[in-house]
This record gives sequence, structure tokens and C-alpha cells, in this order.
Amino acid sequence: MDKKSVLISASGRVSRLPPYLFAELDRKKAAVARKGVDIIDFGIGDPDLPTPDFVVSAASEALRDPAFHRYPRNEGSPFFLDAASAWMSREFGVEPGEDVSHAAVIGTKEGIAHVPVAFCNPGDVVLVPSPGYPVYRAAAILADAVPVEVPLRRENGFLPDLDSLEPSILKSARMIYLNYPNNPTGAVMSGEDMRRIVEFARREDLLIVSDNSYSHIRFDGGKPASFLQIEGAAPLCLEFHSLSKTFSMTGWRIGFVTGGTRLVKAFMSAKENIDSGVFTAIQKAGAAALASPPEAIADRVAVYARRRALLIESLRKLSWDVCDCPASLYLWAAVPKGWTSIDFASWLITASGIVVTPGSGFGTWGEGYVRFSLTLPEERIHKALGRLEQLEFHSLRGRTAMRRSRKCQEES
Ligand code: PMP
Repeated sequence: MDKKSVLISASGRVSRLPPYLFAELDRKKAAVARKGVDIIDFGIGDPDLPTPDFVVSAASEALRDPAFHRYPRNEGSPFFLDAASAWMSREFGVEPGEDVSHAAVIGTKEGIAHVPVAFCNPGDVVLVPSPGYPVYRAAAILADAVPVEVPLRRENGFLPDLDSLEPSILKSARMIYLNYPNNPTGAVMSGEDMRRIVEFARREDLLIVSDNSYSHIRFDGGKPASFLQIEGAAPLCLEFHSLSKTFSMTGWRIGFVTGGTRLVKAFMSAKENIDSGVFTAIQKAGAAALASPPEAIADRVAVYARRRALLIESLRKLSWDVCDCPASLYLWAAVPKGWTSIDFASWLITASGIVVTPGSGFGTWGEGYVRFSLTLPEERIHKALGRLEQLEFHSLRGRTAMRRSRKCQEES
């Protein structure tokens, strides 16, 4: 029998997702590795430090309980929600109340991605920081909403320039994503700036989606901050907390959302139709992590702080222009004048076997920068710095040889 050939195409939404920019870079990385070069990868923000033992033990004990082998509760088990509430009180001074609720998410990525599905109608504008975590833009597109970039400029301390937004954009805007401590720049936001944004959101009838995934990874001695500390913010705000970075739990997939009860309910109405919650044994691990002594976090941050200091100081000695931002797991560094971030990252792989993430992957305003992740041991960082020093000696001085090298690449 003749089989009719059919061509099933993906939806318009999928075709509107931003193209993957780094295929060429991946190809280059693979080619350099094939030559036997030991690749030093500053590209990925995935903690190399292991999950604390007491968290692993809590999970392994819970795994043996058949009660946990059944469907979890969509919004999370009461013990996990109590742990989330206690965490908000202990770490941020945000006390539980009827007007604030919590729900478990399968990592903040999942949570963040489902917000526009719950709150946007087709054509609504979603304000996304640029540079910013690429999921914000994708989430808007997948909900038939329209992402509009809000520039985070260096001269503004990488804070959102809300006054630059056109009134017509604001009129259609439903929500704004914000992420402080910030990926990729490392910037933080003061309480005063948060207050200003809450006022703005109230005036413009905007939902604030605060991605607080890096709340505790800061190096300025500043206390972790939450939008919910701002009076009157809860009815306007959903805030996502991740266990991935604070407790080295990226593989476990757990976090929680907190915010105004009406907002959390609306969010859950969409989400509970898509997934069935977080495995209860993992929630046990999550609850153990959230109840952990403060030293468990401080020790981890101290490791990142040493790596960060080493990298900043040494890169600056080699004339790199590294931004002075005090938080998150990243360093944000300007590329030499005349280079695009992709060209520069690509050149760096070939010349030194070092991988960094090009800023253009984080949006229009990420161009001109590359991101270093702090998730490599100091010994690897030393090795990378040794290679960069060689580059500096042989080719970076005055940048001329670098340009020459780029020209050669273009011609080859
Ligand atoms: N938000 C930001 C800004 C991130 O950088 C990441 C992970 N890199 C996430 C959210 C996702 O975190 P999770 O593991 O909790 O899904």
C-alpha cells in the first residue's frame, strides 16, 4: 500500500524561538578537544561542589518509603511548604500570612517558564531583561506573548532602565522578569530599587516575576534580599527560589515559588495541568536543605569567593575589563574593541582551549561581553590563567595580533 508522505511541521511558536547561536562554537570546541587539548570550560553554570551529605541521606531514607512512590501533591507536600515558609522567615524576615502562599516547582526553570502560560493572553508584552537568562524570552514566545527587552546597561549598574520603555509597550505589558543577584552580570539590586519597581508595577498593573535563584551567592557581605520584604509587594509578585545553586542541587530539580495567594493559585491552575509535582523523596531532600545550618551555605560561598577573587585579580592584571559586580556564579567581562562576543569566544577556544559564554546568547544588550562561570576548582582556574598569560604575552598585547589572528581565521 502506498504511504502518503506527510510533513508535520512544528508550531509557529516553536519557529519564533531564538535560533541556537552557538553551533559553530560547539563545533570548534569539539575540534579542539579532538586534537587532544584539555578544554577548560567556564561556560556552564553548574556547581561542581557536591550536594551536602545530610541532604543526600534525607533523600535516600525517603526513597525507601513506599508512600512516596505514589503521585506527589501538585503544589508540594505540607512538610516542604512549611520548610519553604520557614526559610523565607529565617533568611528574609518574610513572615507567613494568609495573603502569601508557596508551591513547589521542578526547579525554577520550570516555574519561570510556566508563568506566561498562566498570566498572558496572545499578544501581551512580557518585559525581559537583556542581558538575561534566555528562558524568559522563550517562555513568553511559547505562550504566544511578545518578549520586549529591557536594557541592563553597565552605566546603570545593570539595573533595568524602566524609563526607557515606550508608553505603547507599557500599555500592553503584563509582566516583567527580574533576576537579582543577576545572571550573567553578577549585579545586585538594593531595597530602594526594589521599592521603586514595586511602585512602578503597581502604577502600570504589571506582575513582577522575581527570579531569586542566586539569592545567597553574594560576595559583598550583603544580606539575601527578596521582593516580598517590600511592603505591599505580595499581591504583585511571584518570586522563585531555587535549591540548585545555594545547595549544589542542580540535578535534583527542586525549588519553590512564593507570592500573593491569588497569584500562586493562578500559577498552579496552569501548572497542575502540565506536570504532577516534585517527587516526594526529593521534597524531603529539599526540606532538609532548607533547614540546614547557615554554615552549609557560607562554606560554599567562601569557595566561590576565592575563585572569583583569583579570577578577577588575575584577569585585570592581564588587562581584561572585568565588571565590578558582587554576586551570582559569574564574571562578566568586556571583549576587546572591534570583536563580537561570538568571534572572541570562538578565537579563545582555538587559541587556548578555554570556553566562555558569548554575551549575545543573553540578548541584544549582552553583545560586547563574555561570561565566565565560577564552577571550576582553583587548580583549573590557575591552569586557564597560565594559558591566558601566554596569550597575553604572545598576542593580546596591544590587541593587534589578536585582530591579525581573526583576519587569518576569516581568510582561511
Ligand atoms: N534562573 C537563572 C537566572 C538561572 O541562571 C538558572 C540556571 N542556570 C535558573 C533560573 C534555573 O535554575 P533551576 O536549576 O532551579 O531550574
